Amino acid sequence: MYVLKFGGSSLADAKRFQQVAAIIQNTARTHAAAVVVSAPQGMTNALVNLVSQLNSQTNTEQTLNDIQAHLTNIAQAVVKLVPELDSANLNSQQNQLFEKLNQLTQGAKLLGHCPASTEAQILGSGERFSVLLLNALLQSLLLKVSLIDPEEFLVVEDQTSEPVANIEISTTRFKRAYSELENIALMPGFYGVNTRGETATLGRNGSDYSAAILAACLKSEVCEIWTDVDGVYNVDPRLVDNAQHIEKMSYQEAMELSYFGAKVLHPKTIAPLAHYNIACRIKNTNTPEKEGTLISKESGNGEAVKAISHLDNVAMINVSGPGMKGMVGMASRIFSAISLANISVIMISQSSAEYCLSFCVPGSEAEAALTCLNNAFELEIKNELLEPVDVKKHLAIVTLVGDRMQQQKGIAAKFFKALSQAKVNIIAIAQDSSERSISAVIRSQRTEDAVKVCHQNLFSHKPAIDAFIIGCGTVGKELIEQINRQQRWLQDKNIALNIVAIANSRQILLDKHGIQLDNWQS
Ligand code: ADP
Ligand code: ASP
Ligand code: MG
Repeated sequence: MYVLKFGGSSLADAKRFQQVAAIIQNTARTHAAAVVVSAPQGMTNALVNLVSQLNSQTNTEQTLNDIQAHLTNIAQAVVKLVPELDSANLNSQQNQLFEKLNQLTQGAKLLGHCPASTEAQILGSGERFSVLLLNALLQSLLLKVSLIDPEEFLVVEDQTSEPVANIEISTTRFKRAYSELENIALMPGFYGVNTRGETATLGRNGSDYSAAILAACLKSEVCEIWTDVDGVYNVDPRLVDNAQHIEKMSYQEAMELSYFGAKVLHPKTIAPLAHYNIACRIKNTNTPEKEGTLISKESGNGEAVKAISHLDNVAMINVSGPGMKGMVGMASRIFSAISLANISVIMISQSSAEYCLSFCVPGSEAEAALTCLNNAFELEIKNELLEPVDVKKHLAIVTLVGDRMQQQKGIAAKFFKALSQAKVNIIAIAQDSSERSISAVIRSQRTEDAVKVCHQNLFSHKPAIDAFIIGCGTVGKELIEQINRQQRWLQDKNIALNIVAIANSRQILLDKHGIQLDNWQS
């Protein structure tokens, strides 16, 4: 059995729906395929917007119309591409879905707010739409399809700060509900039910996690995550132009990378796959012939540092004061208070003098963390054993990840040197004891520079110089021409010398990728 998950980027328009149907058809020739789908790109954001309008009691009419119009357009474009598709049936299912969305919206309006389970049902509408449209497409190819309803089996624990699936209960329920499946099965990602049986989501980007849960329930051979890039890269390809593709990585490396912000995988995806030793392959819907990235027990060959990731919108909480020193159980009291407030801690660092304990939480939880600690340590703060709890906002964490970092000396030194070269101030540092990751907390607005310079220093074996030519009269012009003439020679020496800015007193020409030196004057 193969599990295939298609993300919103793979379901953005009619043509992509058709590509997805072709990939499923192709897989089903050799393997049974259970397919998990996201909402079409942008749809969940629109639905989140709808819910926030319901909660703030603002008019939802326009948003609701836009959502329905967008989905209708995609469906109609599919019908145009595939005339043999049963459009009457598709229309009627689509109308039922819209009717349900209208009912949920009306209900929330009457209540004056949107209860959690109504919210989850509204948010999951995009995924439900993807299932009904893809099902229609697969039927038009004369394929037999079973539908899997996550509300029948996928149990989401809601006593935790973030949604976590209960795989054991989910597996038992799955086996009971779906003893026989056709060769192709389709399931909406992103949601399931909580322990009280109400609809609950797995959090944003959660369809990857849905696929991993389904793969665990089915004990599938492989879990394929189909997206819009050729696999995992050693840095976010949106930030760095020459990000390098990774062929193989270990479960642990993928876990660290996604935990510290690589959006290509939801951070909880890998754990269930690693537990059952199910291989995970990240593939590109636009280039299905490419191998993608294999995530398994083995890390594969390559550099000690496998990748760099970054996590934005982080806040750091500092608890300090003379009362911290030597006081047994302080850390435990701090983290109990934080966990009772259902706040997840991203990373921790403590100074050796035990004077200060710092930890990072998601930026959205900063205020809640502050309130709960001020309450928990009210007496100590009043008696000046502790200083008032300090929060630093607008931070980011940059992390190096690699299984083989533990066998290498000097990586931290290179990392910090790169950050200092980029003139990035390091606010805190943490390394896990397995030495699989090293993280630095920095100011959020410096993230892009930090990531680029770290990538350049750690992965590129080619020194790069970005030159600014200020003044392009006789001398400047000659210098530009010389640099242009010497490009071959520089390349042979493995040096990248780019002119990224040319200015005189009136004008400036900028290109961060390097100005074309043959026609810079025009
Ligand atoms: P989907 O819609 O398929 O779920 P996402 O947008 O959630 O897709 O995830 C894919 C995106 O993740 C890519 O387009 C890429 O920009 C981003 N990304 C961030 N870090 C990485 C990385 N290290 N490797 C690959 N992609 C990454
Ligand atoms: N559609 C959901 C989201 O945008 C889940 C997912 O795409 O993974 O968060
Ligand atoms: Mg995603």
